[in-house]
Amino acid sequence: MAAENNHGLLIIGASQSGVALAGSLRALGYTAPVTLLGEEDHRPYQRPALSKDFMQDKISKEKLIFRAPEYWEEHNIDVVKGQRIERIEKKPDGSGTAVSVTGETFPFQQLALTVGARARRLPLEGTDLDGVLYLRNADDALDLKARMPDAQNLVVIGGGFIGLEAAASARAMGKTVTVLEAGPRLIGRAVGEETAEFFLAAHRDQGIDVRVGVNLERFEGEHGRVTGVRLDNGDVVPADIVLVGIGVVPNTELAETMGLRCDNGIQVDEYALASDGHTVAIGDCANIPNPIPGAPEGERLRLESVNNAVEHAKVAAYSLTGRREEYQSIPWFWSNQGPYKLQIAGLSTGHDQTVVRRDGSDGKFSVLYYRGGRLIAADCVNSPVDFMDVKSALSKALTIDAGTAADTERRLKESAVPPTEQELDQ
Ligand SMILES: Cc1cc2nc3c(=O)[nH]c(=O)nc-3n(C[C@H](O)[C@H](O)[C@H](O)COP(=O)(O)OP(=O)(O)OC[C@H]3O[C@@H](n4cnc5c(N)ncnc54)[C@H](O)[C@@H]3O)c2cc1C
Repeated sequence: MAAENNHGLLIIGASQSGVALAGSLRALGYTAPVTLLGEEDHRPYQRPALSKDFMQDKISKEKLIFRAPEYWEEHNIDVVKGQRIERIEKKPDGSGTAVSVTGETFPFQQLALTVGARARRLPLEGTDLDGVLYLRNADDALDLKARMPDAQNLVVIGGGFIGLEAAASARAMGKTVTVLEAGPRLIGRAVGEETAEFFLAAHRDQGIDVRVGVNLERFEGEHGRVTGVRLDNGDVVPADIVLVGIGVVPNTELAETMGLRCDNGIQVDEYALASDGHTVAIGDCANIPNPIPGAPEGERLRLESVNNAVEHAKVAAYSLTGRREEYQSIPWFWSNQGPYKLQIAGLSTGHDQTVVRRDGSDGKFSVLYYRGGRLIAADCVNSPVDFMDVKSALSKALTIDAGTAADTERRLKESAVPPTEQELDQ
């Protein structure tokens, strides 16, 4: 642990993972000074509601804030707002100085990068028109909210989680909403066929014009303001606001200037340590060894979720206090889209079998994913009990018998069993 008479830990990025890291360290009894520094001009806040309740004015800005000011004081965590770090001078022992764009310096004994990710920009003619927006941070959300009352037509580019959440929110606010997705189905990266089809039908039922397999030609505008989106088939979809939600890019630039290994994120080992062996990097910015127990050796990925930020922070906190706890965890995620709450446990990539579990209730089902006969993940729509059962089974390295999983008379946990030798070999 860092000594008391030094500058302690500097956490760059004051959001979900930075806040979690500072809290985890204090919970572990870390006594060195902690500075939680971020470039945004807001107190550390939570992002998930930006596309959901906050967008619909159902909750106030205050509700997004992570902690009351007293928390930071009581835990002796110095929160610095509005400082963007552009350079880091680092010594071989891991200590150094961070320099902000305004020239302020922040010396540190230990360094954590929790710099997250930014919205991927869409390189399309007309992208600079007023009204073409992104949704990653509070400023984006405030801008979007301010424009909503005067807008009737919202076009969302991208049928991923954030695009669909925002589309559902706008629809609930009475707007005319169109979703344009380039791929053959919605939420292509994260869910399987059945779940994607359900959301396509569900959003259309809510009155959203969802189009898949769409190619964009350009944004159209008048007097510098966006008025529509032209497709390659000649259609023009009218738009007062275009919200682009086509994924994120991890913020690796600082790490790269420090010479840290980066590839789709800052590469870290199972202890959240970057390639210099000192700096920790966690959350959306980190490229991690697959944390699922028993995952194929050498498989790496980047997770973008609150759960990952929190769990990864615990591992990094151990590393910063000199302990080594491997990051082993079952990823989980949620997405609220209008009346539907999707909860995902595990990762379905590479599945070769699915079992759909549906008791006949409208808009309520689960899809269980298997690889080589073993359960690897589930998408649960308005089915929190199934989600809990699957998450619990996966975290105990159990599988759920595919033969009985569809039987809604039985709780899934009743069918949880250890995998067979053959399944383990898959
Ligand atoms: C609209 C929206 C809805 C979401 N909904 C869900 C959901 O329902 N469920 C879920 O699990 N997850 C959701 N997420 C994802 C979740 O919010 C992220 O996974 C989480 O915020 C990641 O936290 P992070 O701290 O790693 O990164 P970020 O939240 O990206 O924070 C990184 C911070 O670092 C700052 N920073 C970057 N570079 C510098 C620098 N050089 N100097 C100073 N500061 C810097 C950034 O400004 C930012 O504040 C949502 C995200 C968005 C945007």
